[in-house]
Amino acid sequence: MSVAVILVAAGRGERLGAGAPKAFVMLGGQTLLEHAARAALDCPEVTHLVVVAPSSHLDDAAHALRPLDHADRVDIVAGGDERTASVAAGLRALRHEDGIVLVHDAARALAPSELFGSVIHAVRSGHPAVVPGVPVVDTIKEVDGSGRVTATLDRSRLRAVQTPQGFLREVLEHAHAHDGGPATDDAGLVERAGGHVRVIEGDVRAHKITTPADLVVAEQLLEC
Ligand code: C5P
Repeated sequence: MSVAVILVAAGRGERLGAGAPKAFVMLGGQTLLEHAARAALDCPEVTHLVVVAPSSHLDDAAHALRPLDHADRVDIVAGGDERTASVAAGLRALRHEDGIVLVHDAARALAPSELFGSVIHAVRSGHPAVVPGVPVVDTIKEVDGSGRVTATLDRSRLRAVQTPQGFLREVLEHAHAHDGGPATDDAGLVERAGGHVRVIEGDVRAHKITTPADLVVAEQLLEC
């Protein structure tokens, strides 16, 4: 079964305050988009990369990806207003042979290609939906609208979930067709459709770049 990666990069990224969509922010001389695309394409099993870019920045995306020199393996499509709509646009661009689909946030620009390989391996081993996750270090409390704590969750059972998330294609397509409403990750849609999701060990480098402080951490990770 061939493996495709849908790389969603169509967010505005306003919390980063860079004045440009987050995917085009520079990190160590490359855009976040180029870092993320390079890691996906460096995974030997990935034969197709669908980059979902802001409709206003399709040419910029093509320009950012030119150094990768993999035009035959890469398609660029326009995203939507919500992340879920951007993933749906990526699903429409899949090729006939794409049987396993990974969805990855360009904002997790330093996720290593080995993590893509681990996710693919877990899907191939029989898990139809796989997410990388890391233990939670903070104590997580549930609150109501007034800020009153309603529950303290058992931290040992919590995982902070990352991308790339991997799926059998039909499982992901079914989840989006069943409920394409807002969701912060694709595994959440699979859960809402009644599917089972498996967590594998994540990677600190797959940490999401959201704020200027995250960019500082990413710069340090690059130097490691
Ligand atoms: O906004 P957030 O940081 O959660 O976005 C996660 C990923 O989803 C980012 O890589 C972002 O570019 C992408 N996204 C998208 N289309 C949107 C919103 C977010 O592709 N409309």
